[in-house]
Amino acid sequence: MKTVGFRSIVLYILLAVFLGGVGYMVANQFLHGREWAMQPYNANLSGQMGDIKDRNGNLLATSQDGERLYSEDDTVRRALLHTIGDTAGYIGTGVQSVMGDKLTGYNFITGLNQTVFTSMTSGLDLTIDQNACTAAYNAMAGHNGAAILYNYENGDILCKVSAPTFDPAFVPEDIETNDAYRGAYLDNTLSGSFTPGSIMKIVTAAAAMQVWPDSWNERTYDCWGSENIGGSDIVCLHGESHGTQDMYSAMGNSCNIYFAKLANDIGSDILQRKAEEMGFNANLAFGTVTVAKSTIDLANVNANQLGWAAVGQYTVLANPYHMMTLMGAIAKGGTYTQPRLTEGRDLFSDRSPASRKLVDATTASQLKSLLRSDVEYYYGDWLFPSGMSVCAKTGTGEVGEGKDPNCWMVGFCDSAQYPYAFAVIVEEGSGGIETAGSLVSAMLQALA
Ligand SMILES: [Zn+2]
Repeated sequence: MKTVGFRSIVLYILLAVFLGGVGYMVANQFLHGREWAMQPYNANLSGQMGDIKDRNGNLLATSQDGERLYSEDDTVRRALLHTIGDTAGYIGTGVQSVMGDKLTGYNFITGLNQTVFTSMTSGLDLTIDQNACTAAYNAMAGHNGAAILYNYENGDILCKVSAPTFDPAFVPEDIETNDAYRGAYLDNTLSGSFTPGSIMKIVTAAAAMQVWPDSWNERTYDCWGSENIGGSDIVCLHGESHGTQDMYSAMGNSCNIYFAKLANDIGSDILQRKAEEMGFNANLAFGTVTVAKSTIDLANVNANQLGWAAVGQYTVLANPYHMMTLMGAIAKGGTYTQPRLTEGRDLFSDRSPASRKLVDATTASQLKSLLRSDVEYYYGDWLFPSGMSVCAKTGTGEVGEGKDPNCWMVGFCDSAQYPYAFAVIVEEGSGGIETAGSLVSAMLQALA
């Protein structure tokens, strides 16, 4: 009797341990199954993923006999690498990583097994326009940088290109050792931040509009090409002397001295707060992806450092995705539409945070008029397809001795037919209009 009782206790204990173990496994499968299944080293995974197409039905990636295949066009493959992701999964922000479970039909009950319930939902139609992406990539002409453009009304990202890039169908053998591929796993549109140069003048102008709401466009400052501010010189590009400038001419001529003096009259606290209101130092989220911050720190700056920060030098950095949403916000009256990569329900759009107000409606309208004036009277509408009514600001961010500058253009079309906002940065280019302007032009031509 005693032995039987002892045996049943042991049996009960074993049963409890067994059930506990099963429960633990089920719970873990539920909580972590997706991560396990989506690990980059899960070699079979990418070869089971569904098709990825662009907005016009062009096939960007497919699976055949357990192998992942990409577009037949090698320029398309390079241009879309960071948006789609690589086969090994090193590019963590590509849709093959972020939306891997949707592409494989993964769910926590059936795992990766294709069933009647899951096999029908494994393809993805992106909002991307393949031709706009290859146009942007070709216009980069081998330089590193980023180009991102979206429809600020419905959020569709049409163009998203990052360089350095590589061909995912033929991954270079020296990718880990060749300097040309340094940073190639990073999507510069989302994870890069760069010295902004003169595109920062948009933020400084917004601060002036807050301080002098009725007279910001009447303030003038004189420029002789170079001036000692706070103990050392602030200079305009190529030492050019602009004479007496108001806000419109200073923006069009991109006069550093005007904005350096303006910033010192505004004050570092107000400029810092305005920049943060406009999305600097904030963790913007693109679906489940945390975007690299644009950063500014004006604590304890002297007059010279404040002057340089106001024109996007000093320690200021800007992220292309953030700059694009800021342009979308200005175009739309202050609050931007959350960008998206697919029209339907997906991990990017389902978990997207609420849209954020970056500027008030009055400031948005005044900035729009300044940026439109830049193109109309300084850059030339002839740069862009007719009827797009482009509003924009260029920038040349100086990055140090012996290096050519970061060339930026940010802006949007003030057009119901072409509601596009964009941010473009090309490293080591020749100039804002020449390098970044022609990239924007190529992108817009492809979408015209
Ligand atoms: Zn000047």
